[in-house]
Amino acid sequence: MKYSPEKVHRVIVKVSGEVFAGGKSFGYDNDVLVRIAEDIIQVRRDGLSLGLVLGGGNIYRGGQAAAEVRRVTADHIGMLATVQNALVLAEYLRNRNYHADIYSAVQMDKVAMYYTHDKAEKSLREGKICIFCAGTGNPYFTTDTAAVLRATELNANLVLKGTKVDGVYSDDPVKNPNAEFIPDITYDEVLSRKLQVMDMTAFSLARDYEIPVKVFNLNEPGSLQKAIMSKTMGTFIHP
Ligand code: UDP
Repeated sequence: MKYSPEKVHRVIVKVSGEVFAGGKSFGYDNDVLVRIAEDIIQVRRDGLSLGLVLGGGNIYRGGQAAAEVRRVTADHIGMLATVQNALVLAEYLRNRNYHADIYSAVQMDKVAMYYTHDKAEKSLREGKICIFCAGTGNPYFTTDTAAVLRATELNANLVLKGTKVDGVYSDDPVKNPNAEFIPDITYDEVLSRKLQVMDMTAFSLARDYEIPVKVFNLNEPGSLQKAIMSKTMGTFIHP
């Protein structure tokens, strides 16, 4: 199956928390936030239906909790980190005259709307940019799983996973200079070659419901639009 941009009308974009931190290991890089907000607006102007699922790794990851913090609590803190990111990104969109509907999988009415499929579908149909935060609302999951779950529920044609690398490689490109870039691959090949695309829960869901995934580098200006429009940018993972 080849990537066909003309078949893509609704996308769920997963943005890892670490992207927001830019070159730092924690927090936010203003230039990155400006660029991501502008990229999102460009895609929305192209007429695509757009939902964003935000990670929280720039603030907190459940797996890295202090010794006396239980995993369940740590995961709750991790989910709250994604809510912080949603509020920050929505401000950058608002300052550019774009309103985003923020949906949280954990109920906190003063901060964000509680996610339901029907409400989110309505927002997307009205042309609003949706930001989905608090992951799946459950500990022991990741925001990659949340991205595939939202894509499945909302009938998105594509999950775009924005990272700091160009896509999927045959090996870790940082450690192995001979690692080969893979432009196109099936779910089954990813499994048989033991390649790292997303965690297994997220990946299984994508595979079971045949949600195509594209992994791309979110670090270049305009890359979000390019990843959607280009047949060659990023790695396309499909049935
Ligand atoms: N998390 C969770 N349930 C979810 C999604 C996220 O418990 O459904 C927690 C988990 O602790 C995770 C943290 O939130 O480490 C941040 O999410 P993630 O690691 O996916 O963010 P990213 O690495 O993409 O920035």
